[in-house]
Amino acid sequence: MEKVALIGSGNWGSAVAKIVGRNVVKFDHFDRNVKMWVFEEKINGQNLTEIINTKHENVKYLPGIQLPENIIACPDLLETCRDATMLIFVVPHQFVTSICKQLKGKIPANCKAISLIKGIDVNENGFRLITDMIQDSLGIRTCVLSGANIANEVAEERFCETTIGYRDRSDGELFKQIFHTPTFRVNIVEDVNGVELCGALKNIIAVGGGLVDGLKLGDNTKAAIIRIGLYEMRKFSQMFYKGVRDETFFESCGVADLITTCAGGRNRKVAEAHVLTGKPFDQLEQEMLNGQKLQGTSTAKDMYDILSKKNLCHEFPLMTAIYRICYENLPPITIVQDI
Ligand code: NAD
Ligand code: 13P
Repeated sequence: MEKVALIGSGNWGSAVAKIVGRNVVKFDHFDRNVKMWVFEEKINGQNLTEIINTKHENVKYLPGIQLPENIIACPDLLETCRDATMLIFVVPHQFVTSICKQLKGKIPANCKAISLIKGIDVNENGFRLITDMIQDSLGIRTCVLSGANIANEVAEERFCETTIGYRDRSDGELFKQIFHTPTFRVNIVEDVNGVELCGALKNIIAVGGGLVDGLKLGDNTKAAIIRIGLYEMRKFSQMFYKGVRDETFFESCGVADLITTCAGGRNRKVAEAHVLTGKPFDQLEQEMLNGQKLQGTSTAKDMYDILSKKNLCHEFPLMTAIYRICYENLPPITIVQDI
């Protein structure tokens, strides 16, 4: 019997909870109850976990969407993961290190994980993919799921696709069972690194998409940013991870996610507002996202740290220009002058 636990309950975590909660009851080999770890907070004096467990709605991060009653919100991380055999990591990437520290040594070896996180981990020793970080610190095999998946649209059951990257095919197939639906079509590929890098790096390019929207440069410029962005994403991925496949960039996790995020994501929205208001990104994140987190700007900084240490900035002019606009106060128009 497999037991699934969700680590995270933001906008995407909650949308995914709706899918997973409905899918586990379709198979005999899944426990029907799914615990979901919630970073506890008060909403009008009441715990968010209590609201989710009584109203079956995450009123802060995914308002208006009913969650299945077998999704049980839990404020205790270790309690959430106790007895789980399948862990779904779906938190903003900046919180993974502390979560892994808390779970280290507490997860049984027969457990498997999947990361739905879009970001990379950079520290004084270099950089790591989030799947590697989970796998190395917890000693469990880890897949990745990434795709053109704006959470609210997925939660409203509008058709889209997604990609699972696996190392062991049986893990990919097992995770597909809990995610695939007629309106959320899963394709599995043997390229964990490629799928993960697509999801992390496209957030940087989406910031660029928002900058050109704010500058009102039009559709041709947006398409150019998407094309150059895709090129730099593939170049970086294949430079640092030799097995990354060209075909992965044609999956939902690749070109499709880049297009949707540059059209409708939070990174795009906040970057556009940065141009229109001149306010810094962290202030706009607070003002516009109601607790949701921006990933693209911090990933742009992570990338710049990697590229500048390796003297490679000139080979990735778009990602470098986006970093400089976000962190060095360069005028947004330099996005089309420096590439
Ligand atoms: P979110 O940005 O909507 O919400 C932020 C979450 O972080 C909340 O659940 C909040 O409680 C939690 N949090 C705040 N402080 C914390 C702390 N100190 N420790 C732990 N948790 C804390 O989250 P999300 O959209 O579910 O994003 C999770 C991942 O999913 C990200 O990597 C994101 O890129 C990815 N993703 C998001 C979408 C989307 O449309 N939202 C789609 C695909 C992938
Ligand atoms: P944003 O974080 O920019 O909203 O992107 C969401 C996403 O990853 C859609 O696939």
